[in-house]
Amino acid sequence: MFSKILIANRGEIALRILRACRELGIKTVAVHSTADEDAMHVRLADEAVCIGPAASRDSYLNVAAILAAATITGAEAIHPGYGFLSENADFAETVEAHGLTFIGPTADHIRMMGDKITAKTTMEALGVPLVPGSDGELKSLEEARAVAEKVGYPVLIKATAGGGGRGMKVAQSASELEEAWSVARTEARTAFGNDAVYLEKYLDKPRHIELQILADNHGNVVHFGERDCSLQRRHQKLLEEAGSPVLSAEQRDAIGRTATDALAKMGYRNAGTLEFLYQDGQFCFIEMNTRLQVEHPVTEMVCDVDLVREQIRIAAGEELGYTQSDISFSGHAIECRINAEDPDTFAPCPGTVAVYHPPGGLGVRVDSALYTGYRVPPYYDSMIAKVIVHAPTRAQAIARMHRALDEFVVEGIKTVIPLHRRILADPEFQKGEYTIHWLEQFTSRPH
Ligand code: ADP
Repeated sequence: MFSKILIANRGEIALRILRACRELGIKTVAVHSTADEDAMHVRLADEAVCIGPAASRDSYLNVAAILAAATITGAEAIHPGYGFLSENADFAETVEAHGLTFIGPTADHIRMMGDKITAKTTMEALGVPLVPGSDGELKSLEEARAVAEKVGYPVLIKATAGGGGRGMKVAQSASELEEAWSVARTEARTAFGNDAVYLEKYLDKPRHIELQILADNHGNVVHFGERDCSLQRRHQKLLEEAGSPVLSAEQRDAIGRTATDALAKMGYRNAGTLEFLYQDGQFCFIEMNTRLQVEHPVTEMVCDVDLVREQIRIAAGEELGYTQSDISFSGHAIECRINAEDPDTFAPCPGTVAVYHPPGGLGVRVDSALYTGYRVPPYYDSMIAKVIVHAPTRAQAIARMHRALDEFVVEGIKTVIPLHRRILADPEFQKGEYTIHWLEQFTSRPH
């Protein structure tokens, strides 16, 4: 096992990783920007190294500074968390070239899945079903037209390098195709430096259902069931649950087998998530994330597993030590992402937290790096906390989340807590009747 790990991230996820390290008896090195000198992950780590100024590209994305920090502190491994360098294959490669362990998959697998076209062709060859669409990259607008006619409108033009919901444009009909094509390509070129795009049928009422996988370096691959992440705004998840309100145990087993077989054939290692759109009983793969995800706690609650601990054990070369039949699912878990945003306009609201009092009690977990007096910096992601609840049934989980959010005090900045309260009180949400389009419609209703 490692004796010291550098955590190349900030905020709640840096704290989450730090906690897993502590419980494993591993020393931690925090890295931080000048804007994060007073951050909780810096306070709690055994050592902390400042790696640059506030802007992410100069600090949390500064590979040379992070590697220097690892070298001077004698860290043996680097956990990248999510975002920042977590899906940067060159970073993973550089870490390993310096004789350190990257806690995640191989650089080759990160690269393969980071390109969505390659990800789709790879998965298709391994027997995973896809959303109908183009056979790889679109070479021209004419080709886009031909494929769109074949699969039927509406269609979605997507950037192969896309992420965070960017580089994606819908064309409702043939007359909108040219614009979608050029806007998606321009956005992709500007945001990702790669204007390759592909086309998918735009599904009208899918749910976003994803599967959590773990694979060790000894050929063992297991899944921890699904998360339903259909509640999204601008393709960004806001509330997630495990399990999905619409999936049966048999359906979970079947897609789980398809996914674990595919990753076993690939020789994948460490944590990964296969994302699917699910409509009319069919799963269609859209992409794979080769890292820990924001919403991993809902899986941890229903499976009673510490996914970060498992990631670290796997990276250290340990075997999983259990098989699929040892994994069981208990109760229901919900996560609400608490963003420092206006709950109506979604404008970011950084500022000083005048009072912070997190909820507690049975079945309530809060992953957050906030404290009273903390100044939320304007430079990074607006997510400041995740409230996760676990209860025997979905109805009880909803009641528990309601109760937890009522207890949650965050004064001085605006948050989306009032929006979460409204969602939880909505009869359609309570019945589990929602698709990926539901939240956009819900937030545009007067209230
Ligand atoms: P990103 O990497 O930017 O998050 P994804 O491919 O994971 O992009 O898609 C993000 C979200 O966009 C999905 O969860 C879903 O809500 C929506 N989406 C993606 N592909 C389709 C599709 N073919 N039809 C309808 N919605 C889609």
